[in-house]
Amino acid sequence: MEWFVVYGRIFEEHRPSYGYHPENPMRLRIALQALESRGLLSNVVEPAPATIEDVLKVHSKNYVEYVKKCIEMNIDELDADTYICEKSWDAALHAFGAALMGSRKILQQRRIAILALVRPPGHHAGVSGRALGAPTLGFCIFNNIAGAARELIDNGCRPVVIIDIDVHHGNGTQEIFWYDPNVIHIDFHEYGIYPGTGWIDDVGEGEGEGTKINIAMPHYAADNEYVHAWLNVVEPVIEQVKPCAILVSAGFDAFKNDFFATISLTERFYAFAGYRLRKLVEKYGGILVVLEGGYSEGLRLGLPTFFDYLVNEGKIVEIGEPKPSKQYLETFDKLRKVLRRYYEI
Ligand SMILES: [Zn+2]
Repeated sequence: MEWFVVYGRIFEEHRPSYGYHPENPMRLRIALQALESRGLLSNVVEPAPATIEDVLKVHSKNYVEYVKKCIEMNIDELDADTYICEKSWDAALHAFGAALMGSRKILQQRRIAILALVRPPGHHAGVSGRALGAPTLGFCIFNNIAGAARELIDNGCRPVVIIDIDVHHGNGTQEIFWYDPNVIHIDFHEYGIYPGTGWIDDVGEGEGEGTKINIAMPHYAADNEYVHAWLNVVEPVIEQVKPCAILVSAGFDAFKNDFFATISLTERFYAFAGYRLRKLVEKYGGILVVLEGGYSEGLRLGLPTFFDYLVNEGKIVEIGEPKPSKQYLETFDKLRKVLRRYYEI
């Protein structure tokens, strides 16, 4: 499949003014090196910044003005988790612009894969900042994947599916599209950790009811549980909604020993997900992958494996019947009961 990576040096200029922070520019160094070592860095395109008008399609004016003012005033954090520096405004607009570039390419060309290798990440940023009662913005400034989804929808490419594989719930994305039937948001996350949202019976409201799907994984879930959910939730839903494009909120912090969580995925799951997505994209338009979290092993091993299997035709994964844990199967039964109101699951 034809593909390219969107990346700019500006993404490494968003950095904490003091002390260590896990969401730091080294993350992109790790990611670039890992992609390079597998020959996945031959097509790199520089992003253009988004305009304020683009950002205002998913965020409130008050929030955007507040962020700009904080950066101009040299304040060094938006909250206890989320730092800013003088380059953060420029970096955030370019991150949002990189995601938009992916959507515009899909609108032109259909069957193509784009990896937006961006910082700061976005999926915790809601309409007016902190989303659904979360304590902080969780390292995010603007919701890049939401901007990309909005761009597709506004140009007649709908519905779109967003699959969020970051170990944390994409609360910002869920809030932005809560009432919107054009965005089917399927979110894998570890139950009960930050930001404390993403319950199984949260399904959206109004016209959006049934389009928000929360796969709240039990602690210590791993490849078997994720593969089971992929085969029994993600793929049946996608086959039933027949999206115009697929977007992935690609955090790699669910990788074993990455940093933040007990979920312990290995390269086996990321190879499987990349391969299965390639098969889906053959039917359902293009795919845009936008970086969210991932702090060490996930970026080193999960990211390049995922992208390799997504774009390289020769890479195939044969996987047997998954053997998930009893605890997961209880979760799955609850989720299936909720989803059966809307899908054949
Ligand atoms: Zn995360």
